Amino acid sequence: MAKKSVTDLNVTGKKVIVRVDFNVPHKGDVVTDDNRIVAALPTINYLTEHGAKVILLSHLGKVKHKDPVETEQMMKKNDMSIVAKALQALVPETKVTFVNATRGEELEKAISEMHEGEIVLMQNTRYEKGEEKNDPELGAYWASLGDLYVSDAFGSVHRAHASTAGIPTHLPSAVGFLIEKELKYLGQALDNPARPFVAVLGGAKVSDKIAVIDNLLKIADKVIVGGGMAYTFYKAMGYEVGTSLLEEDKVAIAKEFIEKGQGKLILPIDNVVANDFDNPTEVKVVAADSIPSDFMGMDIGPKTIELFTKELQGAKTVFWNGPMGVFEKEGFEKGTVGVCKAIAELDDCMSVIGGGDSASAAKNLGYASSFTHISTGGGASLEYMEGKVLPGIAVIEEK
Ligand code: ADP
Ligand code: MG
Repeated sequence: MAKKSVTDLNVTGKKVIVRVDFNVPHKGDVVTDDNRIVAALPTINYLTEHGAKVILLSHLGKVKHKDPVETEQMMKKNDMSIVAKALQALVPETKVTFVNATRGEELEKAISEMHEGEIVLMQNTRYEKGEEKNDPELGAYWASLGDLYVSDAFGSVHRAHASTAGIPTHLPSAVGFLIEKELKYLGQALDNPARPFVAVLGGAKVSDKIAVIDNLLKIADKVIVGGGMAYTFYKAMGYEVGTSLLEEDKVAIAKEFIEKGQGKLILPIDNVVANDFDNPTEVKVVAADSIPSDFMGMDIGPKTIELFTKELQGAKTVFWNGPMGVFEKEGFEKGTVGVCKAIAELDDCMSVIGGGDSASAAKNLGYASSFTHISTGGGASLEYMEGKVLPGIAVIEEK
């Protein structure tokens, strides 16, 4: 069953609490990248155009509530007022009122004075100690400020916090356009993929990706593994990995995946190795079983790029998470570039990227528009592909 959409709600004249993901990168008092604000605009504009009173809630950065002095500093660093300015610039016709409070008279007054089609942005939800604990009192209080709840913060729905999972237990609820889109593409890949479905998984740590490898070995037709993860698999196969990234305690599970994944699991056949991570003076390409003891795997090799490209041919669904090598460093980006290009050039294929680093790789390389969907939630998209229930989605009403 599908979740209720914002278009299923009667919003005119109603106070609509919208949980957005305004956790934007910022330096000093400047928002350095407003992509996440832009991504929420379709829902915000729909609501203001339909005469809703829009109350926006989001977290910004980390605010820990342990040491009072530190908490004070973190609050100062993550003051939502800069986001209000950036939002106002994007919706010049709409009145945006920033409230420098997360509860109390000032907030309640600002909301009671709102007209239809206006926006109130509340201060950072994490200023409240109870936010990350999903404190029931806090969720109930915030819910009391509105009539309806719309969730559009995909990057936060894997967390059961007061603003994501608490409030909607008290109000009629729906998802916004951003989440609707995320669920459409990720859901299609997971539940009803056009085949062949090829998953491409990379990144640094096996431990981060165990659950997703496990689930995708059940669902996908092929699971391609590259990046730093590959070396734990090599170890499981009895290969020497030199000084490559290795998670000894995950070798057993890697072995299990190799056995379970017969014919499905595809590993690199050659690698670009270097004598040092920070200051590589010697770099060479070696076969999978020939990594010298004093070298580390930094990227997949040219034969592997060819192999992965071939394995991707004809794919009708691709899910990609995690770079194929240390792509941030010059000389070790070719594997990631090659795989990105191979996916981008597939015809008639639904291609989805889930993962912060893989998404920025695709964007920086200029391939973003060639993908069907780039998820806005790294952690959330991964947990979704793991088959986990996302608490901030589960709580939203069904159609
Ligand atoms: P994503 O954000 O797309 O989910 P991850 O965060 O899991 O990706 O992994 C990205 C990181 O993995 C990058 O910083 C990259 O440098 C690192 N990485 C990839 N290959 C290797 C490798 N061979 N050795 C060490 N680190 C690697
Ligand atoms: Mg990452």
